[in-house]
Amino acid sequence: MARVGFIGLGNMGGGMAANLAKKGHDVRAFDLSADALDRARTAGCHVAASAAEAVEGAEAVVTMLPAGAHVESVYADSLGGAAAGAVLIDCSTIDVATAKRVAEGAQAKGLLAVDAPVSGGIGAANAGTLTFMVGGTDAAFAAAQPLLADMGKAVIHAGGNGAGQAAKICNNMILGATMVATCEAFGLAEKLGLDAKSFYDIASVSSGQSWSMTTYCPVPGVGPDSPADHDYQGGFAAALMLKDLRLAMAAAEQSGAATPMGARAAELYERMAEAGDASRDFSAITFLLRNGGTA
Ligand code: NAD
Repeated sequence: MARVGFIGLGNMGGGMAANLAKKGHDVRAFDLSADALDRARTAGCHVAASAAEAVEGAEAVVTMLPAGAHVESVYADSLGGAAAGAVLIDCSTIDVATAKRVAEGAQAKGLLAVDAPVSGGIGAANAGTLTFMVGGTDAAFAAAQPLLADMGKAVIHAGGNGAGQAAKICNNMILGATMVATCEAFGLAEKLGLDAKSFYDIASVSSGQSWSMTTYCPVPGVGPDSPADHDYQGGFAAALMLKDLRLAMAAAEQSGAATPMGARAAELYERMAEAGDASRDFSAITFLLRNGGTA
């Protein structure tokens, strides 16, 4: 069992830290929020007074923070006391350039580092069924893999540092675009007089099938239980989809990749956020489309 520093105990990190403690790891947890610290204590973690205290003597450091700037500042302030050769596992969704930069900084200090963003939301974080997409050297992946396996159902080595973040934003760009396309198709089907359930039954076993259609249907009452069946609450907030699409668009611009569908999806999620719906599930983009694509 490992001595783990865990920083960032929010919606995702809270459940992930709890799962490591449940598996018998010695988890020293830190967050800026007192409520998050109380929940971590109840879940069997040892609560630290600062990020540096959580990291002191740690063989592994897991971060689950909002964005790249948070990861960069926590790494800058807290890594001094990590055990020699410790592995840093950043599970936050951040930009590829920052992921590479913080890994290089860690390696210069003799530490191992991986970017390991996740697929699966709060439910999967709590249940320990996340998918981890991991970027880093073979040695860093080997050091991180057992801990990640204690928090997830799949741990996939995507390539060198930054490759995990690249996989994550490419995956979520597909997700954003297919959700918009699926909502559009349901809207057109309705205008053409097609029953939503009949269309679902056909498209979900035809070439229009996708995760957005079959697993996470944006229309209530026609597929397996999804946020659409709960007034578009819970699930994956449009704000997070917009964050991931912005990361994808920035990466596309930097790399010169053509991503017109991703760009259109990003514009539509920008409009959804401007309309005040950023906290609704991302499948609620269906309402924007039903209004003609305007806020
Ligand atoms: P969250 O806002 O609920 O949690 C982030 C936590 O980090 C907060 O508790 C905050 O207090 C803490 N924090 C911020 N700065 C800190 C600092 N300097 N020191 C210590 N703690 C600090 O966010 P979340 O939903 O848990 O998401 C975390 C990451 O996971 C994000 O990068 C997000 O994009 C990604 N993600 C989220 C989901 C999801 O469904 N929520 C799914 C996949 C990936």
